[in-house]
Amino acid sequence: MDALPEFALVRARSLDDVIRARANHPASSLLGGGTDLVVNIRRGIVAPPVLIDVNHVAELRAIRADARSLAIGAAVKLAELAAHPDVTRHYPVVAQAAGFIAGPTHRNMGTVGGNLCFITRANGGAPPTTIASRPRARSATWRRRAAACASPPSAAISRPLC
Ligand SMILES: Cc1cc2nc3c(=O)[nH]c(=O)nc-3n(C[C@H](O)[C@H](O)[C@H](O)COP(=O)(O)OP(=O)(O)OC[C@H]3O[C@@H](n4cnc5c(N)ncnc54)[C@H](O)[C@@H]3O)c2cc1C
Repeated sequence: MDALPEFALVRARSLDDVIRARANHPASSLLGGGTDLVVNIRRGIVAPPVLIDVNHVAELRAIRADARSLAIGAAVKLAELAAHPDVTRHYPVVAQAAGFIAGPTHRNMGTVGGNLCFITRANGGAPPTTIASRPRARSATWRRRAAACASPPSAAISRPLC
């Protein structure tokens, strides 16, 4: 296996930290679970000089779900989404879909934001197929958000999902 090249790691503690770090390091990548990004760095597919770890940002770790609305932070783990009591109660299909993604290890590490933004080589760099079924069926909001992150393998992520 290839060795990881050197990069700097910024541990963000708040959304302000993330935004400041992105402004200071425009060629950086946001780090969720690293299940896709770290593999791509190791393989030399991308080489961000700085990774911004968003896993300790409280605003991005929260899930709010009731009968009226569902809000999922971008750094919520897929396994957390699948098991969240209010999500399973009010939005069982969302919980079920999250529980079908990959295997337990990847669901324990992988985040919702990373899942929406990971580089999928299987379909030529188009946004991944995940909780929503097909790109055509996704909402206008989803497409706006996806435009912020879904990128060809060589391009950097332009801004954090939150
Ligand atoms: C064996 C295997 C099976 C899989 N099966 C499935 C499957 O069935 N269905 C499916 O949908 N996926 C599948 N995947 C993909 C998996 O879901 C992704 O690897 C994972 O969700 C990525 O999340 P992560 O948090 O690890 O992202 P990372 O690897 O940390 O990041 C991925 C990308 O997203 C960006 N990013 C991360 N967080 C944010 C954020 N908050 N805002 C903006 N950009 C961000 C990163 O900069 C990077 O470009 C599979 C992967 C593997 C290895």
